[in-house]
Amino acid sequence: PALLQLVDVGKSYGNVHALRGVSLHVRQGEVTCVLGDNGAGKSTLIKIMAGLHKHTDGVMTIGGQETVFGSPREAQAAGIATVYQHLALAPLMSVWRNFFLGNEITRGFGTMDIASMKRIADEELRKMGIEIGDLDRPVGGLSGGQRQCIAIARAIYFGAKVIILDEPTAALGVKQSGVVLKYIIKARDAGLGVIFITHNPHHAFLVGNHFVILKLGRVVLDAHRDELTLDE
Ligand code: ADP
Ligand code: ADP
Repeated sequence: PALLQLVDVGKSYGNVHALRGVSLHVRQGEVTCVLGDNGAGKSTLIKIMAGLHKHTDGVMTIGGQETVFGSPREAQAAGIATVYQHLALAPLMSVWRNFFLGNEITRGFGTMDIASMKRIADEELRKMGIEIGDLDRPVGGLSGGQRQCIAIARAIYFGAKVIILDEPTAALGVKQSGVVLKYIIKARDAGLGVIFITHNPHHAFLVGNHFVILKLGRVVLDAHRDELTLDE
C-alpha cells in the first residue's frame, strides 16, 4: 500500500487551474520523482502535501486514510516532512537547534536539557556521516548541500514516513549534488517514501523508482523505472 497517494487531485486558484486530475503515490522504500518546467504545478503539489494549501478536487490518502491537512503542523504530525529548497533550515539558528526544530514539543523533547540535545544531534549527524564540527554555529554558514543533508537526517531521526524534497539539488554543483543524492538513497533505505521534486532528469534517474512528469498542471508521463530502461 502507498504511504501517500493522490487520486485525481485538482487545485484551482480562482479560475487558474494549477493542477488537474493529478494522481501519484509513494511507497515505503521508494523514490517518486516529480519533474516539470516552471508553471507545471510542482509548488502547488508540495503545498497540498505539506498542509499549506487544500486541494479543490480529488482525494489524498495517507496510509490509506483520506486526508486534508489544515496546517503544516498537521502534515508533520502525520509523518510528512518537507524540505524546502531555500528554507531547508533556519539560517540564524545553531545546527543543534535546527536538528530539533519543530520536533521539540511533538516528540517530547520539550523538557530536555541543552547538553543532551546537543549530544543527540552530534551523535545522529555523525552516524549519518555528516561532519559539521561546532554545532553551536548558525546553519547560515554551512553549504547548501550540508543544509539539505541535515534536514534529511533530521527527518529520518524523527521518524518521518514521507519526505518531500523541493528541488534539493537545484542550487548545487556536481559534487554537492552527489552528496545530497546519497542522502536521498539513505532516506529510501531507512524505509521512508521519498518524493523528489526536480528539474533535473539525470538526478531523477540516478535515484528514482517512479517518475511523474507534470506539464501545465497535468500528468503527461507516469512511469516505473522498468518502463524507461533501454533494454528490450
Ligand atoms: P511550479 O512550481 O511547477 O512552477 P506552481 O505550482 O507554482 O508551478 O504554479 C502552477 C500554476 O498555478 C501557475 O500557472 C501559477 O501561476 C499558478 N499559481 C500558483 N500559485 C498561485 C496562487 N496562489 N494564485 C494564483 N495562481 C497561482
Ligand atoms: P490560497 O488561495 O491557497 O490561500 P494565496 O492566493 O494566498 O493561496 O497565495 C499563496 C502564495 O502564492 C502567496 O505567497 C502568493 O503571493 C503566491 N501567488 C499568488 N499568485 C500567484 C501566481 N499567479 N503564481 C505564483 N504564485 C502566486
